[in-house]
Amino acid sequence: MNTKPFITATLIGSLFAGSVALAAGGPGYGKQEVVLDSATETSASDTTDSDDSRLTDIETDDLRYMREEEKLARDVYLTMDQHWGQQTQVFAKIALSEEDHTTTVDFLLEKFDVEDPVVNDTIGVFTNEDLQALYDELVARGKTSFINALYVGALIEEKDMRDILAAINQTDERPIILAYSNLLDGSKSHLRAFVSVIEGQGLTYEAQILDSEEVELILEDESSVDED
Ligand code: MN
Ligand code: MN
Repeated sequence: MNTKPFITATLIGSLFAGSVALAAGGPGYGKQEVVLDSATETSASDTTDSDDSRLTDIETDDLRYMREEEKLARDVYLTMDQHWGQQTQVFAKIALSEEDHTTTVDFLLEKFDVEDPVVNDTIGVFTNEDLQALYDELVARGKTSFINALYVGALIEEKDMRDILAAINQTDERPIILAYSNLLDGSKSHLRAFVSVIEGQGLTYEAQILDSEEVELILEDESSVDED
């Protein structure tokens, strides 16, 4: 029995249905082609730019959002590790992976000549106001108990998967799709890691954002290799 294509299909299907209501500060729909016309563009436009600079507004917004969403994961996990590091290494380990993820998106921002929303890399500081509020809320919740901290971790991973899939569906740029796919694989692995620790506490994990059926399939997915 081959379950992996089904997992991908159901995840993507649910994202089409749920992304509008759930995407905090998330993208809209429809593509707007940017025409580099030397006669009508502002003088700032460089008509010698390669195709790399020709992202749609949606692609640009998604990249900027993803840069800070991955930073949020890293920052929440680093902060949770300060509080719960005696009881688990899961936050410290996954924070390293999120550092890679936010750096990957930073490379894409540079490649496509998009301004980096991360003006300084201080933990817990965000340009996007929705992500700033989310960081504050999740850290406050995660400090209240070890179990709540683990659930915050799993929540972040479910949200990441939903947002990444939405962004994949809104771009046709191969380097971006490839990078987002790697972030998605990371999030699946991270969700499994958090749920494993939750279950180690004698609890049964309940899905928080994705459909419970989808989460079950991700957790049961033995075909993917966990990187962490
Ligand atoms: Mn990530
Ligand atoms: Mn993650």
